[in-house]
Amino acid sequence: MNIILIGPPGAGKGTQAKRMIDRLGVPQVSTGDMFRAAVKEGTPMGIKAKECMDKGALVPDDVVIGVVAERFEKPDCKKGFILDGFPRTLEQAKALDGLLEKMESSLDHVVVIEVPDDYLVERLTGRRTCKGCGYMHHIAFDPPKTDGVCDKCGGELYQRDDDQETTIRQRLKTYHDQTSPLIDYYSKKSIVRMIDGTGSMEDVQGAVKDAIGA
Ligand code: AMP
Repeated sequence: MNIILIGPPGAGKGTQAKRMIDRLGVPQVSTGDMFRAAVKEGTPMGIKAKECMDKGALVPDDVVIGVVAERFEKPDCKKGFILDGFPRTLEQAKALDGLLEKMESSLDHVVVIEVPDDYLVERLTGRRTCKGCGYMHHIAFDPPKTDGVCDKCGGELYQRDDDQETTIRQRLKTYHDQTSPLIDYYSKKSIVRMIDGTGSMEDVQGAVKDAIGA
């Protein structure tokens, strides 16, 4: 099963992907997570990526495509994958077509999680991510028992640089300008499933299950 999750930042792609991996037995491939790991390690690629991420801009296509191509070579991708945050441009979508062709594989579903911009700004500015386990609390919707401390692992909570309001507005603009045209691109292949992402995590999970039939 090869699935792409498309949606604006904060639409819940990562959350839904994590809920799908066990059910479908395929890995989540999140370019955002891979870049954050590279930033943490301080690799040359991470340093370059951080500059783009902090501005709400996209990391250059050639860098992203290289990272994904390398990831696909790992054995766990043989059974399929859930792409979370990739592709984000037409150039990346075309490169993905090429990679899939080489793997003699194809896409099964493109799940688009739709959420209005204002709703997302509220969701994202309230997000606090755990430095230890990556769990995301929300100061209004899922507050930690103790301020600044993760309920799951006791790690320190912080606000991602790219979750500041001005950056979020820029990330949304980037999404509308560069990523949403992909919906049209994949509509031609009749594999697009549109989902309302404004409900609870459980509602959205149910809608995703219905849409992909698994
Ligand atoms: P995410 O966690 O998916 O929202 O990604 C965080 C940031 O990483 C984005 O705002 C981009 O700067 C960068 N990024 C992640 N995936 C991609 C991609 N496919 N193409 C370009 N930049 C990306």
